[in-house]
Amino acid sequence: MRDLQALTRPNIWNLKPYSSARNEYSGHVAQVFLDANENPYNAPLNRYPDPLQTELKAEIARRKQVLAEQIFLGNGSDEAIDLVYRCFTNPGEDNVVAIEPTYGMYRVCADINDVEYRPVLLDHDFQLSADRLLAAADNYTKVMWICSPNNPTGNSMNRKEIVRLLESFDGIVVIDEAYGDFSAERSFRLDLNKYPKVIVLNTFSKAWGCAAIRLGMAFADKGIIDLFNKVKYPYNVNLLTQREAFSILQRYEQIDEWVDVLLKERSRFIQEFARLTCCDKVFPTDANFFLARVTDAPAIYSYLVGQGIIVRNRHRVSLCADCLRITIGTKEEDDALLDALRNYQ
Ligand code: PMP
Repeated sequence: MRDLQALTRPNIWNLKPYSSARNEYSGHVAQVFLDANENPYNAPLNRYPDPLQTELKAEIARRKQVLAEQIFLGNGSDEAIDLVYRCFTNPGEDNVVAIEPTYGMYRVCADINDVEYRPVLLDHDFQLSADRLLAAADNYTKVMWICSPNNPTGNSMNRKEIVRLLESFDGIVVIDEAYGDFSAERSFRLDLNKYPKVIVLNTFSKAWGCAAIRLGMAFADKGIIDLFNKVKYPYNVNLLTQREAFSILQRYEQIDEWVDVLLKERSRFIQEFARLTCCDKVFPTDANFFLARVTDAPAIYSYLVGQGIIVRNRHRVSLCADCLRITIGTKEEDDALLDALRNYQ
């Protein structure tokens, strides 16, 4: 078994991180801050934010039933995705294995970091096979990417297969649960102690209604979180974002209410969509969107754009020929799309 050091890029393992002004005094009470070359006026925006987002993490830890030391916060979960590459993969040498189709940033970040990306096709029910993912791996495979519920297919991945991967793959397994709040599946973040090399991603951008503030979460063993903290920009989450996230966490019931409303609307929307003459099939979904096969995705996409309605055309994505990915909006928004498609010939 490779330990965390063996999986980490040697320069990152040995990295002496930048020590920011706000890092160095911590642990003491102070009133006079002459350490960070800030302007003394224009409070509170004049001060650098907490580099480790201590108060926010304490709140997230409480709500998400993990330890604060098991949380990394970043500028969207996209920051954590990039950090996975920068911490664990040697450019030009290592590779990663991922389900296909899935969220596009895993591949883009692999390309940016000059790391080979090995996509493994899902089956026709959009399910993963642990055996096939394992067969695609070799001694240079550092990371496996799983997204559940998966984007763009919408379905949750088979739990038993994920567990098999966690138990058999000798490397980092990332499970992106960006849409997990819409699913009844148990989050893998509750099993961090059982699987020390899993990284579970979640975000404020979906169920939490805060895509604009750019806040993503990674839950993992403290050793992995410490590596991320070493590599991240010193003040990667700004003060306004930290405050807004703290405030939305005080309104947790609101998030549950949004999820309830969206799940009910999802059933209604899908039922109506499936009746459209242009709809061939709606695939099962566990997320706040659904994938549908239609008679001619590019033509229908363009028609909808002409009507001022934007969906995602996934026609060119593996296994998704003639598929549109459609987000659940308000009833009024969804009805606008349904009305437009009733008039489509
Ligand atoms: N993961 C998945 C599966 C996504 O679909 C998205 C956004 N579409 C993200 C991560 C990125 O989310 P964030 O806004 O937190 O960067």
